[in-house]
Amino acid sequence: MKFIDEFRRSDLAQALISRIHQRSRTSVRFMEFCGGHTVTIFRYGIRQLLPHTIEMVSGPGCPVCVTSNADLDKAIALAEIPGVIIATFGDMFKVPGSRSSLQQANADGADVRMVYSALDAIQMARKNPDKSVVFLGIGFETTAPAIAASILQAEEQRVENYHVLSMHKLCPPAIQAILDSGEVKLQGLVCPGHVSAVTGSRAWDFIARDYGIPCVVSGFEPLDVLQCVAMLVEQVESGRSEVEIAYSRGVKADGNTEALKLMDRVFEPAPATWRGVGEIAGSGLKIRDEYGEFDAERVFTIEIGQPIEHGGCICGEILRGVSTPLDCNLFSHVCTPQRPVGPCMVSSEGTCAAYYSYGGAVGG
Ligand code: SF4
Repeated sequence: MKFIDEFRRSDLAQALISRIHQRSRTSVRFMEFCGGHTVTIFRYGIRQLLPHTIEMVSGPGCPVCVTSNADLDKAIALAEIPGVIIATFGDMFKVPGSRSSLQQANADGADVRMVYSALDAIQMARKNPDKSVVFLGIGFETTAPAIAASILQAEEQRVENYHVLSMHKLCPPAIQAILDSGEVKLQGLVCPGHVSAVTGSRAWDFIARDYGIPCVVSGFEPLDVLQCVAMLVEQVESGRSEVEIAYSRGVKADGNTEALKLMDRVFEPAPATWRGVGEIAGSGLKIRDEYGEFDAERVFTIEIGQPIEHGGCICGEILRGVSTPLDCNLFSHVCTPQRPVGPCMVSSEGTCAAYYSYGGAVGG
């Protein structure tokens, strides 16, 4: 498979690993923000290939994992309203909220259906004119433009029974909050590839400039990640902190201006609550007043109780990069992908699922 195999060539990987070993002298901790990178790092055993001077920690870049219990409870409460169909990406189905999950709600009689895109949800709304279809809008800057487009399409085609529960999150404010907390000291950031394809690499300029932390945008193949780590090591060893791109086939400095315009037309920044981090100003996306008729939060009365966290689950600490799944007493015996206690074990991009699937005993 051309284009994929090229980014998995063992001779090139070996050359990058040698370069990293030769150049790395300073002890550093690099965070990969994105759950997709976490999966690549574990699947290809990249932690074990790096010198002992480099510690990799996983960050909060898994949209399902950072969705707070309060938001999950809202989605479940919506599912319980008669006449509502919930349309959602599959990962959300099994994530436990405070007292239930969408899967449980479905088993109890709610109508929860999996879709692959917001456009599928619009189609569902057209086919079910006597119901209200609520699409669960989760994800980062990567998915928000497509969901904005779906709202514009629903408006244009007068699909009045289509609504979105916007739980979107914006990545740069979350990284800033983590850095400002001072809990985890980083010497480099593996910046998310797909998010940066939309935002542009400039979105990370403030980290290099104001925090003095080298940033490199990475793709998702093993060579991408190794190249990214090599570039971060090079910056550290030469005393630089800049934003560089190791994923030039997907990311430009200015990003995707059309996608950004779409997002800005339909959404406005709002506070959002991240699991483990709490409320972060300007880190969420609220549907603008002009499109309020498509906003599930305005159309329906949603009542939820006080959110309850799962006893013993340390997803919040893992998402902040201060603990690993191996620090969780429930990991692998009580909490497994078959019986997940927290979202980091449910999501295919969750750190606990990556540790469980690919073995996390090495590298911490
Ligand atoms: Fe939560 Fe399970 Fe991960 Fe522990 S192993 S932090 S319970 S998801």
